[in-house]
Amino acid sequence: MQQLQMVDLKRQYHKIKSEIDTAVLNVIESTAYINGPEVNHFATELAAYLDVKHVIPCANGTDALQIALMALGLKPGDEVITASYTYIATVEVVALLRLTPVFVDVDSDTFTMNIDSVRKAISPKTKVIIPVHLYGQAVNMEPLIALAKEHNIPLIEDNAQAIGSSYTFSDGTVKKTGSMGTIGCTSFFPSKNLGGYGDGGAIFTNDDELATTLRMVANHGQNKRYYHEMVGCNSRLDSIQAAILRIKLRHLDEYCDARRTAADYYDNAFKNNPKIITPYRAPYSHHVFHQYTLQMKGVDRDKLQQQLAERNVPSMIYYPVPCHKQNMLKEYGTANMHLPVTDMLQDCVISLPMHTELTEEELSYITKNLLEAIS
Ligand SMILES: *Cc1c(COP(=O)(O)O)cnc(C)c1O
Repeated sequence: MQQLQMVDLKRQYHKIKSEIDTAVLNVIESTAYINGPEVNHFATELAAYLDVKHVIPCANGTDALQIALMALGLKPGDEVITASYTYIATVEVVALLRLTPVFVDVDSDTFTMNIDSVRKAISPKTKVIIPVHLYGQAVNMEPLIALAKEHNIPLIEDNAQAIGSSYTFSDGTVKKTGSMGTIGCTSFFPSKNLGGYGDGGAIFTNDDELATTLRMVANHGQNKRYYHEMVGCNSRLDSIQAAILRIKLRHLDEYCDARRTAADYYDNAFKNNPKIITPYRAPYSHHVFHQYTLQMKGVDRDKLQQQLAERNVPSMIYYPVPCHKQNMLKEYGTANMHLPVTDMLQDCVISLPMHTELTEEELSYITKNLLEAIS
């Protein structure tokens, strides 16, 4: 057995190597490195996959969130509600734009924002809500959309961890995550479910006017070259990345299925163990397992990680410090907020290797060693 990794990009690449190599070489030969035809083709294909009107590619997922906030024309001090239990990028852009992050707790079973907490956090200053589809699970969007409509607050979906996932509404309608809010954002960081071979990101919307503004913001505030209407930024997806992502997009559903199959194996191996809570799959969410994250009960987590490492089983803590406690945000005074579920999860979660190439032999080795370590 090869050395286990949290994410195995090499084996995945080797399965599509000839197609990828040809596509990359074609871009190099074409010299259309910036905003070449591959970028437009990819945007069109991704829009069709997600069933959204506009896809605006950009440089990374963090930029996607920043551009989304910039396009909404917010003022310093406007409040943005999001979960503290997320990757820092979701919140960093809020602080960068001098907006005020307002944190809500998550549900312990889904790891995603608790909708009642969002309702309580809404104030006259609330100008955006950012639901994060964490670990590949969709936020409970139906009540959130209703709440946002009631207060006329735009939703920016952080879909960096859940591209390929979908949400089923009570009337049976199914929509892809990232396509339900006012704006959706994603990342093509290599380890994401749709990952390039470098950085990349994209913004989605069904609103024509907003799409024009988003494109302007991402392109130095201009629609017409050298006529700059607003302060923007420079955020583009490379043509080489677009060419790679076009190929990988065709495999995205199959990649999500491979992750779900690995999750099934883990679930089965760990079920009924009193020290382990396996990830819950909400009935409305098509979970695409960006991460496979357990909650360990009555287990010394540091010791467990060390024991796993000794047996060459990698593991990670996503995330050891929740956003509201990060020094980055100390001026907002959020460190002592009462977010009991977030604080509880921070101390007990552990993520296991999760990618598209896990074999039964590897899964058996990982699960056997984890069970032995806690027995
Ligand atoms: C990865 C990630 C981002 C940022 O994406 P980058 O491409 O690394 O900038 C934002 N939000 C979440 C939830 C993420 O997991």
